[in-house]
Amino acid sequence: MLPAVQPSPDSRRSVYMDANATTPLLPEVFEAMAPWLLHRCGNASSGHAHGREARAAVEAARLEIARLLNCTGMEIIFTSGGTEADNLALFGTVKAGGHLVTSRIEHHAVLHAVERLEQQGCPVTWLPVDEGGRVSPEDVRRALGAKTALISVMMANNETGVLQPVEEIGRIARERDVLFHVDAVQAAGKVSIDVKRIGCDLLSISGHKMHGPQGTGALFLRDGVKLQPMFYGGAHEYGRRAGTENVAGIVGFGRAAAQARAGLFDGGVQRIARLRDDLERGILIEAEEAGVNGFGQPRVPNTTNLWFGGLAGASLLMALDQRGLSVSGGSACSTGAEEPSHVLTAMGLAPERAGSSLRFSLSKLSTGEDVDFAIRQVAETLDPMRSHQRAKSRPGGSVRQSV
Ligand code: PLP
Repeated sequence: MLPAVQPSPDSRRSVYMDANATTPLLPEVFEAMAPWLLHRCGNASSGHAHGREARAAVEAARLEIARLLNCTGMEIIFTSGGTEADNLALFGTVKAGGHLVTSRIEHHAVLHAVERLEQQGCPVTWLPVDEGGRVSPEDVRRALGAKTALISVMMANNETGVLQPVEEIGRIARERDVLFHVDAVQAAGKVSIDVKRIGCDLLSISGHKMHGPQGTGALFLRDGVKLQPMFYGGAHEYGRRAGTENVAGIVGFGRAAAQARAGLFDGGVQRIARLRDDLERGILIEAEEAGVNGFGQPRVPNTTNLWFGGLAGASLLMALDQRGLSVSGGSACSTGAEEPSHVLTAMGLAPERAGSSLRFSLSKLSTGEDVDFAIRQVAETLDPMRSHQRAKSRPGGSVRQSV
């Protein structure tokens, strides 16, 4: 019998609302993984009984991932995460000189990989987004040329949660016979993903964004699409990604995918959407001057990105952190960077407004109490911060009397 997963001793005083950075492992995911970390030992490539058992576990997980995306198991390549899946999609399909079409709001896993390809001589069309944070399919159509090798547009933006018109883009890609990659890392488990309906050739997901373990991911590669591997070694993953499979991680990822699929049908996702809407409404009522970035756009159910007029997001983030509320000021990967978010600036937000924005992202484990706690912390933090701002901006005002 496995020990039950206990909440951390501080969990009553601290609330985690940064699920787009990473999600906690579900207890059932941990339980599925534990035997593979403890006593079940086997390399999935070994021919003996232990190896065959590991292989069977990997293949069962592969089928769970395939079910989540509506494809076959053979079309799934396990990777070390979303970043590797994105890199494999881009470097694996674009040859020297090939033209790429991508958007200005991609995650750095795509953005920086495309920049590298650009340095290597691949021309790139960087698509803008409108003020709601959406790419225009017509812009995609106009960008295509005879040498276009790949379109890469994300399904859900990690900072705003705004969903992109991937089905329309997929139709254009098919009409023009161009490969289409979708970074669906922030969509998986939050909205349904059907690679056939999208009409994409490649699609990336990541285990730890859907209550699976960190360091797991997968790339969907449509049957028949050629891919140049990035790693060389054994014939793992049907010769497409060399390296011994992470059996425990893959088993956990598979269980998380099954749970994610269930959440799309059992009301789990709708519950998170209600919590997010309550959170958004509660904060907007409490804050004097605030708004939602990407408001009115189709969004994943767990994310809200809010701007707070006249305040520095970094200070607000720190104050909330001290009060036990973990949120994010952009993508976690950019923490420490002073630059305003490339996503919000691409949406046309002035640097001050972009710099005043915070992302709140909920998970399956979020509760109504968490939402109430968050609203209270934001309200109690904003009050003194605003008086501080007002004192600073008054002629001769001193900041010493505030907070
Ligand atoms: N793509 C998007 C949209 C993401 O949000 C992230 C992580 O935040 C990644 C890719 C990278 O995924 P991973 O952390 O699994 O490498």
